[in-house]
Amino acid sequence: MRDAWRGFIFPNIVIGIMKVSRIIVGPIETNCYLVSSLEELICIDPGDNSGQIIEAAKKLGGKLKYIILTHYHYDHVDAAKQVKLALGGKIIIHKNEKPYLNFQPDEFTKEGDSIKFGNEELEILLTPGHSAGSISLLGKKEIFTGDTLFKDGIGRTDLPGGDEATMQDSLEKLKKIIKPGMMVYPGHGEIFKT
Ligand SMILES: [Zn+2]
Repeated sequence: MRDAWRGFIFPNIVIGIMKVSRIIVGPIETNCYLVSSLEELICIDPGDNSGQIIEAAKKLGGKLKYIILTHYHYDHVDAAKQVKLALGGKIIIHKNEKPYLNFQPDEFTKEGDSIKFGNEELEILLTPGHSAGSISLLGKKEIFTGDTLFKDGIGRTDLPGGDEATMQDSLEKLKKIIKPGMMVYPGHGEIFKT
């Protein structure tokens, strides 16, 4: 009987929706995100509370493919190793963060790379200023902005690798890219819609 359905196109069936879960971690209340599609998921900015992140990921189910760090600051990276130990996944960070790291990631990323999981794809955008290798992750209807853009402000530029002028350029870049109606998932504070 199953063969009778071969080649049949089922209209209006959405195959896998990107699901975003937020876990607020650590003393500076960093937004850690678990993003899942079909049987795969990625973790963005596991800054602290590895146990909580691991438990949430297990509940969501699926294979953890990547652990993506939007920048090198401890409040975004400190639980990466424990999460990887428990669930696997490649730790990825932009190559400009290399001089500031006290651990070895699995891969360095760069502008234009794409992160594929399930049937979703996020594009790496280099948005420096808060740090030299701060990245944003751009999807079709969403963007993860790390500490570059918050609901009520922008990230500080006075820490090592930070630069005010570069930050302004990055904000100009994001202004052109972020479309009305997009969900913005920042590194701290509220998630918002443009
Ligand atoms: Zn930061």
